Amino acid sequence: MYADRIKNLPPYLFAAIDKAKQEARARGVDVIDLSVGDPDLPTPEHIVKALNKAAGDSSNHQYPSYEGKLTFRTAVAEWYRRTFSVDLDPKSEVLTLIGSKEGIAHAPLAFINPGDAALVPDPAYPVYRTATAFAGGEPLIMPLLKENRFLPDLDAISPEDSRRAKIMFVNYPNNPIGASADRSFFKKLIDFARDYNIIIMHDNPYSETYYDGERSLSLLEMDGAKDVAVEFHSLSKTYNMTGWRIGSVVGNAEVVAGIGKIKSNIDSGTFGAVQDAGIVALNSPNEVVDRMRKVYKHRIEILYSALKDMGLELDKPRATLYLWAWVGGSSIEYTGHLLEKTGIAATPGVGFGKYGEGYIRFSITQPTARIEEAVARLEKMGK
Ligand SMILES: *Cc1c(COP(=O)(O)O)cnc(C)c1O
Repeated sequence: MYADRIKNLPPYLFAAIDKAKQEARARGVDVIDLSVGDPDLPTPEHIVKALNKAAGDSSNHQYPSYEGKLTFRTAVAEWYRRTFSVDLDPKSEVLTLIGSKEGIAHAPLAFINPGDAALVPDPAYPVYRTATAFAGGEPLIMPLLKENRFLPDLDAISPEDSRRAKIMFVNYPNNPIGASADRSFFKKLIDFARDYNIIIMHDNPYSETYYDGERSLSLLEMDGAKDVAVEFHSLSKTYNMTGWRIGSVVGNAEVVAGIGKIKSNIDSGTFGAVQDAGIVALNSPNEVVDRMRKVYKHRIEILYSALKDMGLELDKPRATLYLWAWVGGSSIEYTGHLLEKTGIAATPGVGFGKYGEGYIRFSITQPTARIEEAVARLEKMGK
């Protein structure tokens, strides 16, 4: 009954842990679920108010425009200008998305012919790989290894693969690893893309969740980036708006136009009221995001210390909502064991690709009191 593109999906490796969570709950275990990255904090009230008002505006009740409201796209461009000193033309270099996942999933359809290839990192957000395959393309894996600071080793990509690849996905600050990229990597990436005529798709939903005072980079800050790259950005993580489904893709105008062409044949845009509220979100006072950073920073510090004290090997992430701990051996077995012993659910690293094996991911998107409870349980479990 099903098409090959569905039949050939990789096995859903989180199924085992989902089942174990359900079984533990059925046994009466108070499960602390640190396996999903979905902010627990509510959307700030001024944004909710803006939605309520915009929902009553009848001009928002008809089909929205395919490319998004010019007012929203202008707000995105102004936000990039304020945040990264990046200039964008809201008309040609910004496209509204129904969440960045939607844009990422549709993007390969604009650039990949059957048999073409895309360079995708491993471990990674699974959408890069499945979206490539849905377009008939072949994902070429770039392992993210600790010895390379979890950055793809561009020198290790064979000349054939480099020539075959039409696009490359990258994501820093990174989910699931929590690693960040520096300017020298981004510079190398742009040179590589130019040499091999590859479109870089940088997924950047965690640019604002950083904790060491030094802001995360946009790839578009780099000289020449707009010649080869687009960046996906999202309001989901920055403003606790995962349920609202709004984001954007910005950068190279031809690439943006290609994604827009696909989208205009699939969806009919983002609800206007959500875009109006998105404008208010992007113009939020700095305190709004500062407050969120403070909460997450505290959670990371305490969970990091507890995992370290247990003898697990991990880096303290300077950004994102994730801790990526080396456990050795089977990550599925370890998460099962952890759930059994402590009632804490984490994500097995192998669910993000084979190079994630041996690691487990903890998310900090549960209320602080629950993270404190998890820390107490980990201390009790000991080594
Ligand atoms: C959360 C997340 C997204 C998706 O965000 P939406 O804008 O809510 O679709 C994309 N990429 C990564 C790596 C994420 O973690």
